[in-house]
Amino acid sequence: MSEPSSKELFEFKRTLQELSDKRGRGTELVSVYIPPDRQISDVAKHMREELSQSANIKSKQTKKNVQSAIEVIMQRLKLFPRPPEKGLVMFVGMVPRGGPGTEKMETYVFESPEPIKTYIYHCNSEFYLEPLREMLEEKETYGLAVLDRKEATIATLRGKRIDILKTLTSGVPGKHKAGGQSQRRFDRLIDLAAHEFLKRIGEHMNEAFLQIEDLKGIILGGPGHTKEEFLNGDYLHHELKKKVITTVDTSYTGEFGIREVIDKSMDVLSEIDVMREKKLVQRFLRELINEDGLASYGEREVRQHLQMGAVEVLLLSEDLKYQRGTYECASCGHSMEKTGKDLPDTETCPSCNDQMRLSDRRDMIDDLVEMAEEVGTEVEIISTETEEGMQLLRAFGGIGAILRYRP
Ligand SMILES: [Zn+2]
Repeated sequence: MSEPSSKELFEFKRTLQELSDKRGRGTELVSVYIPPDRQISDVAKHMREELSQSANIKSKQTKKNVQSAIEVIMQRLKLFPRPPEKGLVMFVGMVPRGGPGTEKMETYVFESPEPIKTYIYHCNSEFYLEPLREMLEEKETYGLAVLDRKEATIATLRGKRIDILKTLTSGVPGKHKAGGQSQRRFDRLIDLAAHEFLKRIGEHMNEAFLQIEDLKGIILGGPGHTKEEFLNGDYLHHELKKKVITTVDTSYTGEFGIREVIDKSMDVLSEIDVMREKKLVQRFLRELINEDGLASYGEREVRQHLQMGAVEVLLLSEDLKYQRGTYECASCGHSMEKTGKDLPDTETCPSCNDQMRLSDRRDMIDDLVEMAEEVGTEVEIISTETEEGMQLLRAFGGIGAILRYRP
């Protein structure tokens, strides 16, 4: 099953934001989550039941709106012989644009970004977005291992989900069991056995973690020093070693140990994203200071550099609240693009002075992300949680580029 790309995720988040702002006049916004293995005919049957149920709604207006929403859903369902691979999400309802009488039927239908587990039908004054929110939070995978000389457990953490992949035991006896004159020889055997055990742990971790695309990081835990011994030794693949974020002391191994590791490293994990953003903006700022530095900023210059394919990483502030519009002149055929906070519907044509109409309006972030995708430029949306993020927004208009070469 393919993972959504960062652009897709960004778009889902944008849609989510849009949807969360919508309110119905009554409890009349309908949300439906259809798991991939649910028969569309079952859903249609359920919709017919809801439709007859809705006859009991007291408010005439709400009743009418709920019924229209369900009818739209039934129409849309006909387009699907079966749900798509990860399931289907539908949000339908009458949303007011202003005062009374401005309601318009809004319909959002799309494939879920992650597999839907439970069927949900929900009717309220807001869309029900919790499952979608959880999916979008769940995209990062961490590798976890707790170990001592006796036992090791390997697991992954994805959102809130923990998967235990493997539990290994060593059979290495404790040192205290030895005695007498053979003590030294016995200790040596134990060390050898421990070394063999760490090797086995390493092999299993390599096998489990190397195949995870976009593994965000690894955290090692366990009582005592075995985890440090493991990390400092030559047991883990060098690519994985680079991903070890931290080690955590725990009282247990096994599944309890894994839970301890997660509890103790929560703060560390949320810091990581923030650190990443900080580092990127810092890199951008360092480049800017150099006379021949590989960085540019501002809409015009960055657009130019993007088009040339000169941008390695495009940094966009999440608070970039501009629109990009296309104006067309019906009289002379002239067209132009314009950026602004609130674009007017018409503009004066620079070539014939006639009125130009706004034919397309999109969010500037979307516009730039699309441009970047076309030329294979990596995009990072930078939050304003950090000082660096604020600096990008305030001092550089929220648009920065780290360049591949100096154009
Ligand atoms: Zn014109």
